[in-house]
Amino acid sequence: LTHFNPMKTLFKHIIAGALMAGSFLFPPAHSDEIQSKPNPLVLIMLGPPGAGKGTQASMLHDQLHIPHISTGDLLRENIRQETPLGKQAKTFMDKGNLVPDQLILDMLFERVAQADCAQGYILDGFPRTLLQAESLQTRLKGHAQPIVLNLDLADAQIIERLTKRVVCESCGTPYHLAYSPPKKKGICDKCSGKLIQRTDDTEAVITKRLKVYHDQTAPLIDYYNKLNILHSIDCNQPKEKIFSEVVAYIPKPSK
Ligand code: ADP
Ligand code: ZN
Repeated sequence: LTHFNPMKTLFKHIIAGALMAGSFLFPPAHSDEIQSKPNPLVLIMLGPPGAGKGTQASMLHDQLHIPHISTGDLLRENIRQETPLGKQAKTFMDKGNLVPDQLILDMLFERVAQADCAQGYILDGFPRTLLQAESLQTRLKGHAQPIVLNLDLADAQIIERLTKRVVCESCGTPYHLAYSPPKKKGICDKCSGKLIQRTDDTEAVITKRLKVYHDQTAPLIDYYNKLNILHSIDCNQPKEKIFSEVVAYIPKPSK
């Protein structure tokens, strides 16, 4: 039994009319702008190991609902699955060395080509070399808006943080046994996964990772500074304080 509702019908006509007038007055410039935002945000978390790139990226993900892409997590997933990439990467990672650029670039560009990245994404642990940064710039040129958040932390604090760090085996969330312990010992607050110490979070490997950071990644600070897209944040403060500074550097959506 359907009955006629004049108010509802009238309302439908008003809406349809408004929509038509809208597309007449403001025609979309290109049809593809309807599918994805014309200028998606690409947030790049730069900084030494242990500065809190993963923590901030995950907080940004919760707020912005764009994917959090950690090259370290992607590599560790490949190691767990025993893929050819995982087997190759492990030999570099266990020593604290960088995985060769071409392997990283293939892996990352495949990931960001997926549909969920069309509205933007957060990069954590990439780029780590000048070649990676340049390859990313070439790829983004003209159709994305990269913003670099440089998380700054002194070496002594890095060592203190990493030697007491545990991470969730399933979702990658990091915890610090003294400063930000999980609610239940050994269990992830977010997903109830098991907390483990990363095999590269030992003092010897940390020292090596720091040297690699200073030699190969720190030059990116200068690179992005020249492009005028770098913002530095002191990370020797609580993660909520860091987050409020991070967020202040992110442009508000224009629509
Ligand atoms: P952290 O930032 O704490 O050092 P990550 O999880 O980002 O940890 O990286 C762990 C390891 O994975 C690195 O030491 C390196 O071997 C490898 N890796 C991750 N991202 C990259 C990258 N962009 N280029 C080369 N190697 C990488
Ligand atoms: Zn978890």
